[in-house]
Amino acid sequence: MFKALVISKTGDQQQCDVREVNDAELPPGDVTITIEYSTINYKDGLAITGKAPVVRKFPMIPGIDGAGTVRASSHAGFKPGDKVILNGWGVGETHWGCLAQQARLRGDWLVSLPSLLTARQAMSIGTAGYTAMLCVLALEKHGLTPDGGEILVTGAAGGVGSVAIALLAKLGYNVIASTGRASEAEYLKTLGAVEIIDRATLAAPGKPLSKERWAGAIDTVGSHTLANVCAATRYRGVVAACGLAQGMDFPSSVAPFILRGVTLVGIDSVMAPRELRVEAWSRLARDLDAGKLEAMTREITLADAIPAAAEILAGKVRGRLVVNVNA
Ligand code: NDP
Repeated sequence: MFKALVISKTGDQQQCDVREVNDAELPPGDVTITIEYSTINYKDGLAITGKAPVVRKFPMIPGIDGAGTVRASSHAGFKPGDKVILNGWGVGETHWGCLAQQARLRGDWLVSLPSLLTARQAMSIGTAGYTAMLCVLALEKHGLTPDGGEILVTGAAGGVGSVAIALLAKLGYNVIASTGRASEAEYLKTLGAVEIIDRATLAAPGKPLSKERWAGAIDTVGSHTLANVCAATRYRGVVAACGLAQGMDFPSSVAPFILRGVTLVGIDSVMAPRELRVEAWSRLARDLDAGKLEAMTREITLADAIPAAAEILAGKVRGRLVVNVNA
């Protein structure tokens, strides 16, 4: 038996609680993992609360991220004792996830834990941090360099935003943080932001083009914010769009793209190819300051994950939540 969060549904009513689950019920897969840490991302919040139809099968163990040790494997790439990370691939949505002490997954989904990271650090990073790294890689691949000018990060005090700021600052970029929480200004400066702007300045409908400011941006917010970010991006600048905290809409015009040569890059972490994941994780191990990562992390238990799900959707979580599944 192992302990897990289980989401069940009766009629239209979804509920989530901590339960004991029998190993024999684990889904098919070629690698069985003893999970040490998981995490709560925005998507886990949606799954656990049922606020969006993220979970496709019931009962479901949520948890789109996990880190732990291989217990059994028939996959050529992994053997018992190997330390591994899982992010995405529909785990916690269509396949039982990692907010549990055991998970059975496909070896093709796994990435080896970089030797410089612990399982806890990997889950402090989680999908949020790995997505922040995918955004940084996209900016770099489109030619952005630290001497190119200011980089904007929206949703700054959230998980993706916090890791993005820490990464960009360590790489030498001038980072401007957009937040709705003025009280987090000191926190954001500790992570490496040089200036804080109020997210309200980007949240309302704006002009197709405005004064050029950012050489690049990482947007976790979508909607009018993303439109305004594009409108103020400098000639040939790059915007990496990964989130929808304000909304899924994109009320923009083609002006930034056809008049300023701005590039808008879409970032998806869920189905990203394995080589890109390996690159992102090895860069995270190298380029993310361990002290800053710890400063943005709060450790919680499996039972705490239930109220934490509502907290993250309300935009009240600062940085990252790591779940100790054995606590
Ligand atoms: P968090 O909840 O940790 O952070 C989101 C932040 O967005 C909040 O902390 C808040 O920052 C800001 N925010 C919240 N509501 C609003 C609003 N109405 N208007 C403007 N800003 C708002 O989530 P994550 O960082 O984990 O994820 C951020 C986004 O990225 C989510 O939409 C998530 O679904 C998406 N995502 C996408 C991935 C992909 O593969 N494309 C992978 C991971 C995440 P502040 O208080 O500083 O203003």
